[in-house]
Amino acid sequence: MKVVATAILAALAVSALAAPGLGQGTGIKVIVNGVEIPLAAPALINSGQVMAPISGLFEPMGAIAAYYEVDRSVIVTNRARAAVRLQVGGTAMHVNGQSRALPVAPQVVNGVVFIPAQAVFAALGAWTKYEEAERTLYVSSQITAISAEVRDGSLQVKVAATGPVQTETLVLTQPDRMVVDFLHAALRTPPGEMPVNGAGVQRIRTAQFQVKPYVSRIVFDLLAPVEVRVNNDAASYLVTLEVRPRTTEAGAPPQPPGTPPPGTVKGGGPTKVMGVAFQRDGNGGRITVDATGPIEYKIREFVYPDRLAIDIEQAVFVPVKQELDFEHPSIIGVRAAQFTARPPVARIVVTLKRKMNYLVSQSGGALVIDVNNQVAARRHLVAIDPGHGGPDPGAIGPSGLREADIVLDISRRVRDLLVRDGLRVMMIREADVTVELADRPRLARDAGASIYVSIHANANGRATVNGSETYYLTPQSLVLAQMIQDELGIVLRLPSRGIKTGNFLVLRDSGIPSVLVESAFISNADDEARLRDGAFRQALAAAIHRGITRFLAIYPAPAP
Ligand SMILES: [Zn+2]
Repeated sequence: MKVVATAILAALAVSALAAPGLGQGTGIKVIVNGVEIPLAAPALINSGQVMAPISGLFEPMGAIAAYYEVDRSVIVTNRARAAVRLQVGGTAMHVNGQSRALPVAPQVVNGVVFIPAQAVFAALGAWTKYEEAERTLYVSSQITAISAEVRDGSLQVKVAATGPVQTETLVLTQPDRMVVDFLHAALRTPPGEMPVNGAGVQRIRTAQFQVKPYVSRIVFDLLAPVEVRVNNDAASYLVTLEVRPRTTEAGAPPQPPGTPPPGTVKGGGPTKVMGVAFQRDGNGGRITVDATGPIEYKIREFVYPDRLAIDIEQAVFVPVKQELDFEHPSIIGVRAAQFTARPPVARIVVTLKRKMNYLVSQSGGALVIDVNNQVAARRHLVAIDPGHGGPDPGAIGPSGLREADIVLDISRRVRDLLVRDGLRVMMIREADVTVELADRPRLARDAGASIYVSIHANANGRATVNGSETYYLTPQSLVLAQMIQDELGIVLRLPSRGIKTGNFLVLRDSGIPSVLVESAFISNADDEARLRDGAFRQALAAAIHRGITRFLAIYPAPAP
């Protein structure tokens, strides 16, 4: 949701910036893992390379890029901790410390940093292709390894990729078979067969099922009905499929293939889906789909926003439509309806706040989808530090507004938004009290915080100076600063003064990404008036929150 809103605003900004006379269809498009990137400025072609602005370019590849103004370098990092470093004007890049030639040097045009996109995506392990006729650069994750092992009665298939992949699982009965597709993923392992002979699976077969867009497929030849758990590791690009024989209600042994499940009327019409129910279980939950007759289903992951769609094939959704809304840290809601009448398909959509693992099982006439997040136990802790406090009011505006009060209010709003996302938050101060400067980053680090965000309002001797800026000191803080400042600049339409290095005590040696946000100039009468407005403070908090969540989405959570 958040990303979509940002993308729309960025797209509007792009069309407003487009050169007059430049038709909508003539620009170069960049599509990464199926997502069209809203480019901050039109991309160009130079020596066969698509030169694209870095902002937002790498996020569908699970990577982030930032421009390091001090030495004019660009750093791109991903969840697997690959790091690519380029220099404006330089014809070499460093990939995990190793030097590689670049066909074209990165350049800065009108303050926008352009990089040779194919070369950098390739350095991250992605597949790229520029389609001249479509003027489109396609970029996909690649599958680099597939392994299968039977352990404790269940088959574990591990699929290693160079970037995020989405799965689509199809489970059919009579005869029992299962297919798992990896969308937007190019297969870089040789296609072929692997014998399994365990956990209800005879063998698996892998193939590049489709090339435009890429779909890699694993077919499971089954000996018995199975159920499957799909785990998408948040800290790497490893998908694990756990397949095991379906357990029946009475604990009876699995039915031999071809045997209709109990209650099935042979030759009967479509399956009747009687309704869906949701039951919370900690930070996850259970969705139960109540049906009569055999259940054949397809479950697919979507992104922006993250959701699961479960299609029950050859099924009529008897209640016609059902919508379940609830307060939940990880799940937004469940919708169910007849998706198509011919062929009859019932669809259940589970909208998530973040990517989650799921286990699909069948019990009697019900399909049960358990969603959970294995990383829930090591969720990020975010330290929010409202500047000043106690006898130190910070800067004071022309009409008397105190920085210490205003930044405490903004910080509380940021905290509430993060808590609503299920993140843990520590406030360095909760009231108008003194906390020593040196203690502030130390408190965050000692508590095990993933990141530290200090929130201030700026002051300048010249009353006309206004806008927002974000400070960082260490290279690991750069990307966080960039993401927060992007949001402040794009969303608020305040003058964006960009990111800057600042040798502030609170940004030194914290050991975690640490930034200091100067939200607006309290010394400027217009900014001060805006800061008095609760709606503006909420918008500021929402921008800071979006920057933080964009960063955390690809920043590994600390080990438990
Ligand atoms: Zn301050």
